[in-house]
Amino acid sequence: MKIWKENRGSQKTDTLTTGAGHPVGDKLNLQTAGPRGPLLVQDVVFTDEMAHFDRERIPERVVHAKGAGAFGYFEVTHDITRYCKAKVFEHVGKTTPIAVRFSTVAGESGSADTVRDPRGFAVKFYTDEGNWDLTGNNTPIFFIRDALLFPSFIHSQKRNPQTHMKDPDMVWDFWSLRPESLHQVSFLFSDRGLPDGYRHMNGYGSHTFKLVNADGERVYCKFHYKTDQGIKNLTVEEADRLASTNPDYAIGDLFNAIANGNCPSWTFYIQVMTFEQAEKFQFNPFDLTKVWSHKEYPLIPVGKMVLNRNPVNYFAEVEQLAFDPSNMPPGIEPSPDKMLQGRLFSYPDTHRHRLGANYLQIPVNCPFRARVANYQRDGPMCMFDNQGGAPNYYPNSFSAPETQPRFVESKFKVSPDVGRYNSADEDNVTQVRAFYTQVLNEEERQRLCQNMAGALKGAQLFIQKRMVSLHHFVLSTQCKHYKGSRILFGAHLTLSGNLSQ
Ligand code: NDP
Repeated sequence: MKIWKENRGSQKTDTLTTGAGHPVGDKLNLQTAGPRGPLLVQDVVFTDEMAHFDRERIPERVVHAKGAGAFGYFEVTHDITRYCKAKVFEHVGKTTPIAVRFSTVAGESGSADTVRDPRGFAVKFYTDEGNWDLTGNNTPIFFIRDALLFPSFIHSQKRNPQTHMKDPDMVWDFWSLRPESLHQVSFLFSDRGLPDGYRHMNGYGSHTFKLVNADGERVYCKFHYKTDQGIKNLTVEEADRLASTNPDYAIGDLFNAIANGNCPSWTFYIQVMTFEQAEKFQFNPFDLTKVWSHKEYPLIPVGKMVLNRNPVNYFAEVEQLAFDPSNMPPGIEPSPDKMLQGRLFSYPDTHRHRLGANYLQIPVNCPFRARVANYQRDGPMCMFDNQGGAPNYYPNSFSAPETQPRFVESKFKVSPDVGRYNSADEDNVTQVRAFYTQVLNEEERQRLCQNMAGALKGAQLFIQKRMVSLHHFVLSTQCKHYKGSRILFGAHLTLSGNLSQ
């Protein structure tokens, strides 16, 4: 897609200015004492340009650094007001503007798009009662269930502190020491670990949330957004080829599709679980390493998400686009999910560091469908009128924003003892076993073992052995796939000359 057309002089051009708006007479030649220099500090055309250039980068996201963004709308197709009072679901036919950012997770901002990695799939709904952010992924689960492990998990996937290289020892050491990761690791090394761009994959809110209706009744909920383009994955060979020949493959695929009017869409569903069902559920319903069975908790259709506008400026609208799971309008609330609770803190904390305390005033993050009225003032890069002369303290006796009791969050009981509860062994087996034995077919199982072994063989032998025994523990000797998978793993790892059978 060629964006710019040659200017053949027929168009009227703007006058070039400095950042302060002063017209510039010469932008090609420094102001110097004589033709050979030195240059003058008074050359503000130069210092204005260079000083700004020196500050062009903002901190890269620690995770999800490489991404693509687009804009569009969410439309309600099915009434779910019996579950949720959020304005975004108000009535069938209602549309709400959305921003979406897709990303890889572990790579830096310049890394290739087609690497084996989960994909971020974050959606911002600009609702009438403030922004709602679903900071989702293309998988319904995650590697860990306790947010205290998150920094270590991410460190293990990034660069070795000494060599500054990716390190299979770190990756597989962590995964093999934390068996709860095996479910997500198995998704990752299945065919869906290499999605063909961003249009052909599903998205999931992943966490368990709470929905509250107009009568204050609550249910637990999960969000799913299924691609209308159909699931499409890359082969290992094609992904490798694209990584070297077209590292921006997924960004380009999304941009070009929208620019050509081939607008991607996703069908939006919820799964609902009552509080009574949650009490009896065979797993912890707030465990992010588990799914809720589709059979027991069927998908309920809600609406459609359509992406029909590309960013006009990548930095302004995508690099600065900041998602925060604590952005929940009335009717949507957090569950006790420990990973979600950890993210409620870490996401806005990251944005305040990356973008500044007033990041919610940046146009793409601004809840433009609601009117912000509060007692926050000042701070760096305060963009607007700082709420003018309105009182900046609360309570006050003047005409100023007031609370509305109908928006108070729903009450819930918490009575247990405070403690650091060890969740490492909360059934790390049943679901990954079902995935391996029932969801995948034989070819998919073979590819999974091959993909996993191909990556695992880079790690030291004791780590390989620990990981393989974990996989075999999941299948158990009674399972009909046990022998096959042992042979498969063994074959691929023995090829590397490392694992003795
Ligand atoms: P179902 O048969 O109802 O669900 C199977 C689901 O697996 C599919 O609907 C699909 O989810 C997903 N799936 C298919 N191929 C892959 C793949 N290569 N990688 C990742 N996911 C895939 O069975 P259950 O609901 O009883 O779940 C059985 C097992 O299936 C679970 O233990 C879990 O491992 C896996 N699974 C279940 C999901 C769920 O939400 N129920 C979702 C993902 C996986 P989708 O329709 O969302 O694409």
